[in-house]
Amino acid sequence: MFTIGCHLSSSNGYLAMAKEAVSIGANTFQFFTRNPRGGAAKAIDVNDVNAFLVFCKEHGIEKILAHAPYTLNACSADPSIRDFAKRTMIDDLERLEYTPGSYYNFHPGSHVKQGLEVGITYIVEMLNEVLKDNLHTTVLLETMAGKGSEVGRNFEEIKIIIDRTELGCNLGVCLDTCHIWEAGYDIVHDLDGVLEKFDTVVGLERLKAIHLNDSKNPMGASKDRHECIGKGFIGLEAITKIINHPSLRNIPFYLETPQTVAGYKEEIELLRSLYIE
Ligand code: FE
Ligand code: FE
Ligand code: ZN
Repeated sequence: MFTIGCHLSSSNGYLAMAKEAVSIGANTFQFFTRNPRGGAAKAIDVNDVNAFLVFCKEHGIEKILAHAPYTLNACSADPSIRDFAKRTMIDDLERLEYTPGSYYNFHPGSHVKQGLEVGITYIVEMLNEVLKDNLHTTVLLETMAGKGSEVGRNFEEIKIIIDRTELGCNLGVCLDTCHIWEAGYDIVHDLDGVLEKFDTVVGLERLKAIHLNDSKNPMGASKDRHECIGKGFIGLEAITKIINHPSLRNIPFYLETPQTVAGYKEEIELLRSLYIE
């Protein structure tokens, strides 16, 4: 089954997001758990969540993907920033218990001048405090473009974090097509090779979600600039292969292209027409 959605604004609550998703032909969606630049989250409205859960059942929405604020930096050199990342994640995961079975995606972080090893150590430290055996949410590490000192620029770095985390067995991966392309993985000419590499290093069973984006830059640019589907250096032909690839076609896809909601609707229609049922 083709599970496709996009990033939606969470400002009007859960039910509003689900309705918006259905109105644009999506059967899943992604949202920020709070203002993407951080700050306090709105309190959970239990009535809204309950109505949302009923609506999802009626409309075949099975999985949703919550995205942590992208400014969270679990491996900052500043202990107060690391502490903020930890407290935000604990709070987000508590609130996600209202929608059990969701995914929660985060950017591993930027080590700045401390070096990769220190960065990974802090990320693992945070995950060890945040992950609990009884959580009903799967936490996903996002593959990054490698801008600046981003951790998670290659599959090996992701794997080290998973291996060193006590409850790493519960972690998954969200693969961002723009990011891995800009990180130097040739998904245009060698999608099979890239996925084999992922399988060897991390294991395809860990791959839980895909951020489906084109890129404004050539392979290896490490700049992290998303482009609309078919308008960038990845292109529609490669994206068609990605959504239909036997190893990917049953994983949920999330658009994070620079689009309006109306634009997302058009991209979803286009992708549905290219997906081989
Ligand atoms: Fe992201
Ligand atoms: Fe992404
Ligand atoms: Zn990005």
